[in-house]
Amino acid sequence: MAVDLHLHSNASDGTDAPRIVVRKAASVPLTAIALTDHDTLSGIPEAMAATRDLPIELISGVELSVDHGGVKIHMLAYFIDPGTGPLQDRLVTLRAGRDVRNHEIIERLNRLGYAITMQDVLQHAAGDAIGRPHIADALAAAGMVGDRTGAFRDLLGDGGLAYVERDRLTATEAISLATESGGVTSIAHPLTIDPGDSPLRSIFEDLRDVGLAGIEAYYSEHPPHIRTQLAGVAADLGLVATGGSDCHGSGKPGIEIGTGRGDLVVPDSVLEELRLRRP
Ligand code: AMP
Ligand code: FE
Ligand code: FE
Ligand code: ZN
Repeated sequence: MAVDLHLHSNASDGTDAPRIVVRKAASVPLTAIALTDHDTLSGIPEAMAATRDLPIELISGVELSVDHGGVKIHMLAYFIDPGTGPLQDRLVTLRAGRDVRNHEIIERLNRLGYAITMQDVLQHAAGDAIGRPHIADALAAAGMVGDRTGAFRDLLGDGGLAYVERDRLTATEAISLATESGGVTSIAHPLTIDPGDSPLRSIFEDLRDVGLAGIEAYYSEHPPHIRTQLAGVAADLGLVATGGSDCHGSGKPGIEIGTGRGDLVVPDSVLEELRLRRP
């Protein structure tokens, strides 16, 4: 059987409730999943409760947007329990930073002639990590853009007309905080990184040297030969080749839990290897 260590629920920008994510995953079937919402662990208790009557294990995770010398990276942290702790407490301030940024994005949109309000955006959010995808949904619901993708392309994407930067941890801080919280980290969808002048491999090495555990080799959007190649790089560098679909429900059409675009298989051994890296 297989696992899926990268999943979003409506606690952040996925469209399914955490219990639905668990039910769908169990029916694939998968032996284990990690719920990895952006900047929040608030979906974990509901997801954990949903595993009680199902033959599936839930790993508590979170996805962080970090900076490494000007390079933007998404980092997955696993085995982070909900509640308080070094990383958990920092998530609270990261969500507060989102709030400030969301207001700034809405102001920009208003100045550009898109008359949406925070109330409109909140109608598209069920959880506590609110961001651009929910703003995109509000724009689409008002008929101002076609869909989420259109909103990112025309307005909200990095460098777009209504784009606003936000508070980020550095990659090193994220790894330290996750480790202090008893967790392990993996670089999400490494091929979406724009490494600038430094080779991707040297970024992996730098971060491995400060405690990074893995890189996400088995990913929906990676063609099979890239998955194999990244798994080889991980093995060379002494990192775990992790994997997951990054399913966001209908927020990312065509990507399904466990199978991604239909050909994803993340072996059970990935989770066993990650467990061995726990501090
Ligand atoms: P935020 O966390 O508010 O900066 O929003 C980033 C999230 O928006 C990502 O994690 C994706 O889920 C989503 N996203 C980013 N780019 C796009 C895109 N081009 N189309 C649809 N969703 C996107
Ligand atoms: Fe997302
Ligand atoms: Fe991501
Ligand atoms: Zn993700």
